[in-house]
Amino acid sequence: MNPDLRSKTALVTGGTGAIGRAVCAALAEAGASVVAVCLPSDLEAADALLAQWRDAGLPITVRAFDVSDADQAASALARLAADAGPIDIVVNCAGITRDAPLRRMTAQQWQQVLGVNLDSLFNVTQPLIDGMCQRGWGRVVNISSVNGQKGQFGQTNYAASKAGVHGFTMALAQEVARKGVTVNTVAPGYIDSPMIDAVPEAIRADILKGIPAGRYGHPADIAAAVAFLCSDAASYITGAQLPVNGGMYMSA
Ligand code: NAD
Repeated sequence: MNPDLRSKTALVTGGTGAIGRAVCAALAEAGASVVAVCLPSDLEAADALLAQWRDAGLPITVRAFDVSDADQAASALARLAADAGPIDIVVNCAGITRDAPLRRMTAQQWQQVLGVNLDSLFNVTQPLIDGMCQRGWGRVVNISSVNGQKGQFGQTNYAASKAGVHGFTMALAQEVARKGVTVNTVAPGYIDSPMIDAVPEAIRADILKGIPAGRYGHPADIAAAVAFLCSDAASYITGAQLPVNGGMYMSA
């Protein structure tokens, strides 16, 4: 059964991406009004998705701004508050990879990944968290990665950013726990998506061998975990990292 999120408004960064669009749909199916955020350069491509959502009767709109840019995020969120009212749920899902072994990694590759994957959590969550605390209800779900838990060759930037995501989660969870606001991390394993399509076939075959469930995850597997953490049934879960990885990486 869907969690009941009627009367809630959710903001999903990376909401037009492979995982983000499934998260938007799951939250909207649970009754929330949803604002999907994407990069301005992805706005045109989002038209088809918007039409799909409209046809399915899902209340999802799209806004474009760069979540790695603090000023852009602050002004976009201020405009959104004026148009759409308060935001009750934030899903920080925007993320990129710029892979290279450290000895060949450029400062730009490092900064771009940290900017989109980690700075964005500050840029997007900080302007919204006070309102959630004042209203006495809120949900922040941050999307990390199995590679933030175990590291991955060629991903010092990505692994550092994703490990940082959960550090942010644990610290903020403590700051807002008494205000009815929970903060959690969902750590996807390898998900059927363009991010995985970009991995060379030989490496993908190896990855698959290491997944006990014998398949990649579906975006809907991640969306279901996010929707659960946003529900009232999860109100006592905070500061947690929920791995959704088909058993690929387990920790005590
Ligand atoms: P995707 O590439 O399909 O989509 C990325 C989304 O983020 C798009 O909507 C894009 O517009 C948005 N975005 C990128 N940079 C942005 C910026 N600067 N400002 C605003 N929006 C921006 O990504 P995905 O595969 O759906 O991954 C979603 C999240 O899940 C990411 O955080 C990723 O690190 C994480 N993740 C993905 C996988 C996987 O297998 N796909 C595995 C583990 C973790």
